[in-house]
Amino acid sequence: MRLKGAPASPGVGIGRVLIYREPDLNFGHVVYLGLEKEKKRLKAAIARFKEEIAVLAAIAEKKSGPSQAAILTGQVAMISDPFMLSQIEELLAKGQVAEAAVAEVAQGYEDMFNGLDDEKTRQRATDIEDMKRRLLSILLGVERLELSTISDGVIVVALDLPASALTSLPMERVRALATERGGLTSHGSIMARALGVPAVTGLVGLMGQAYEDGDLIVVDGSGGEIIIEPTAEEVEDYERRRSVWKADQASLKFFLKKPALDADGVKRVLGANIGGLADARQAQEFGADGVGLFRTEFLFLDRASLPTEEEQTRVYAEVAGLFPDQEVIIRTLDIGGDKRIPSLGVTKEENPYLGLRGIRFCLARQDIFKSQLRALARAGAQRGNIKIMLPLVISVEEVTLTQKLLAEALAELSAEGLAHDARVKLGVMLETPAAALIVDLLAKVSDFFSVGSNDLTQYTLVADRGNPQVSHLCDPFHPAVLRNLNIVIAEAKKTQTPLGLCGEIGGDPWMLPLLLGFGLEKFSVSAPSLAAVRREMISWSVAEARELTEEVLTFTTAARVKAFLKEAVATKTKRTIR
Ligand code: PEP
Ligand code: MG
Repeated sequence: MRLKGAPASPGVGIGRVLIYREPDLNFGHVVYLGLEKEKKRLKAAIARFKEEIAVLAAIAEKKSGPSQAAILTGQVAMISDPFMLSQIEELLAKGQVAEAAVAEVAQGYEDMFNGLDDEKTRQRATDIEDMKRRLLSILLGVERLELSTISDGVIVVALDLPASALTSLPMERVRALATERGGLTSHGSIMARALGVPAVTGLVGLMGQAYEDGDLIVVDGSGGEIIIEPTAEEVEDYERRRSVWKADQASLKFFLKKPALDADGVKRVLGANIGGLADARQAQEFGADGVGLFRTEFLFLDRASLPTEEEQTRVYAEVAGLFPDQEVIIRTLDIGGDKRIPSLGVTKEENPYLGLRGIRFCLARQDIFKSQLRALARAGAQRGNIKIMLPLVISVEEVTLTQKLLAEALAELSAEGLAHDARVKLGVMLETPAAALIVDLLAKVSDFFSVGSNDLTQYTLVADRGNPQVSHLCDPFHPAVLRNLNIVIAEAKKTQTPLGLCGEIGGDPWMLPLLLGFGLEKFSVSAPSLAAVRREMISWSVAEARELTEEVLTFTTAARVKAFLKEAVATKTKRTIR
């Protein structure tokens, strides 16, 4: 049975279904049964916990050696600690249900460990979190998928894969992803592309289909389609497509460390979009020209408490050190929309994409913002190559307010005698229609610009980038988006403010000649896309790109634009891309 969705990450995966469901660990409904009964429930849960860990540790020992097993058995030691147990029992005596008592005590330890500076100690916070979630699921009788034990070659099928779940999935064992929710520029899709895992999203009705763990499934991340229980002919057909894809990947090796040149031999700056240190290392390995976008929110996800200023300083400095002679653009916390951070306790909003997102959140939580600004300035002390970028700007005031906060942060650092980059640059993302219309005004207060085409597309077209019901509308080839890009790039160039682009379209072979034609000189894409962009880039001279762009700007529909580009790009590069 075939289902059509959006081609989130290219490539073909053939494997066995593994259904992933976020366990619901809400315990608001649980009723207190009295001290003795709650103690009994707790005791039984701990006994079951120990049994489960013993099985998992044995598997881990076989698969990954004694150190992995020791991490698990360490959790048994933690829950057997008489002091921790007495803290939990104290809460039971005060009338709390076992779930609430476990959650509260564990949270206290997590916060304590997270607040410490030593990496090893902070790892213990993750162990405590893991222990808490396991105990809660046992107490609540909720089944959970053991992510750490999933077998090789599975295809993960889920309603949604929030960034926090993706960070804990062992991706090296995942052959492909298929999700019901999400769009091409939702963060799950961006991460799948960054990891080179084929993925299809926006598969409406996926979770209601009849299949179970272990069923055969094909995911065609290039075509945006999945096949549940394929026939033998279909498997054969897709195995052939998979080997073509693999061969294409292999041919890209030639471009891994090459500079990004156009057909005129002019070098373009091609930086990397990263979400953390691992991405930064990969970007360095693939020869990126620095970092065009560091999405710092990934440092804040999947943990119980916020990263400290010290921790942030260390990570930013380490990334800056990987690109000592190139710029490293680090974006301040961009949460809201489809990125939510439980530890921040942000209230649920009716329209999160129009709510407290990006710079709005930063300015509303100046405590968090200031500590990030301080960390960024400190991390730039050694090389002076870190630049600060603000997300979702709509006004000059947002920038001037940030300038004021930054000046305060710098003055504090001087007073405290902490090394920092006193001349750290502050730039703005052009990703809202408002920013696009006031590029000239923003230029007066910005050291640099970067076009965020993912958001610029969704806000220009008023189509949620993560909602599969409108994903066909959230199309960067729509004439309105193309005009917007053309205007934004031209306006920014007029002001002579340095300009780049860090949205997903930078890695799109059809979009590339248009961006060159609009006059863009600096791009930033995820590390696995670097080689492919270099391969496309070398096909186009500026004159050819301009000619093509002029013609495209006369078209009235996205469909016409894409049909034309499909033909033109295939003729030019001798490759059919999709
Ligand atoms: C964008 O909006 O284009 C962008 C790069 O930022 P993000 O995808 O993180 O919103
Ligand atoms: Mg954005």
